[in-house]
Amino acid sequence: MVGGGGKTAFSGFCFRRASRDRTAISLSAVAGGANLLKCKDEGAGAFRGPRSPQRRTKRQTMKSVPFDFRRAHSAEEACALLAEHGGDAKLIAGGQSLVPMMAMRLARPAFLVDINDAADLRQVEVGADSALIGAAVRQRTIERDAALAAQVPLLQKALRWVGHAQTRNRGTVGGSIVHADPSAELPLAACVLDATLLLRDAAGEAEMPAREFILAPMVTAISPEQCLAAIRFPVWGEARVGCAFDEVSLRHGDFAIVAAAAQVALGADGRCVRAALGTASAPVPQAHADIAAKLVGTLLDDATVADAAAEVARAVEPDGDLHASADYRRHLAGVLARRVLAAARDEASSRP
Ligand SMILES: Cc1cc2nc3c(=O)[nH]c(=O)nc-3n(C[C@H](O)[C@H](O)[C@H](O)COP(=O)(O)OP(=O)(O)OC[C@H]3O[C@@H](n4cnc5c(N)ncnc54)[C@H](O)[C@@H]3O)c2cc1C
Repeated sequence: MVGGGGKTAFSGFCFRRASRDRTAISLSAVAGGANLLKCKDEGAGAFRGPRSPQRRTKRQTMKSVPFDFRRAHSAEEACALLAEHGGDAKLIAGGQSLVPMMAMRLARPAFLVDINDAADLRQVEVGADSALIGAAVRQRTIERDAALAAQVPLLQKALRWVGHAQTRNRGTVGGSIVHADPSAELPLAACVLDATLLLRDAAGEAEMPAREFILAPMVTAISPEQCLAAIRFPVWGEARVGCAFDEVSLRHGDFAIVAAAAQVALGADGRCVRAALGTASAPVPQAHADIAAKLVGTLLDDATVADAAAEVARAVEPDGDLHASADYRRHLAGVLARRVLAAARDEASSRP
């Protein structure tokens, strides 16, 4: 397919024309897509030689549906392109989820807008009350940001569980939240901390609580013409804050069967003055705000923690699938809730 109307020709996995915005590289290079989408030069003379399973025709080697491609240099430009192409377009950030989905043809965008060069989507601002993280900031950048770790430590703890160093090198914070895998760690951290999502389209900006954003597995409230611009995480100002993240997965780097996160603040007398708690398992991450609220004023002793964890196990409504039954997930939610609450309490207690 040759791009028409001035659009870049990104024919399957190969650009036909090269320019600054239309670089002649494969999608796997654009998105770090682990060779899932292979670039084949469609120019004259390509694919000479005997046919073998490794050397097939260009049509046979194509994995995704054909699509056109543009690189956006700002959020505004990305939104304008989304508005122009409506539901046919998709943003690509790290490509760690989108590229595999395209390779399997579970996603079939006709137009890709690459936001990796949008500098305004890649800023991190850490303040006294909140930390603003651009949607296209790499997960690895957040993992290594000492100022952010001091103000929003739960993020760093959650990120250790996200995939592998290689996927975190490319994957973005916003991409993970918009992809909305039911057991992804960053959406859970955003829900537990009651983060705010800054959404943008050609008409302007809107804010939405992370807790309202994910509607079902991989279904969110974002519209086809919206770009997630940034995520604002509240900074807890109390002196004695502790947090913990834990999960159970089949292998390191796999998505969690169940994950749990907690953050607590203790007063000088050791009583809990603020608490947040959540679990992630199919179908969506849940912030257990009511259960966390009951912890305020308590000493967070083991019995109180166990009661809260039992309540979590009753409150979750997990799905069962080939990895784990709903009952096992419910059991894990209780076990992990107890672990993260106790660990968060212990960390907070160790602070002067
Ligand atoms: C081997 C492997 C293991 C992994 N393990 C885990 C894991 O354990 N936990 C986990 O959470 N994740 C895991 N992931 C997924 C990884 O975290 C991805 O980085 C993340 O899900 C998507 O981020 P991305 O930047 O790559 O987004 P992309 O793949 O580029 O995009 C994903 C989706 O988000 C949309 N999108 C991206 N950015 C925006 C934006 N700013 N505004 C609007 N829409 C946007 C895209 O259109 C697309 O629909 C794994 C991935 C791999 C390959």
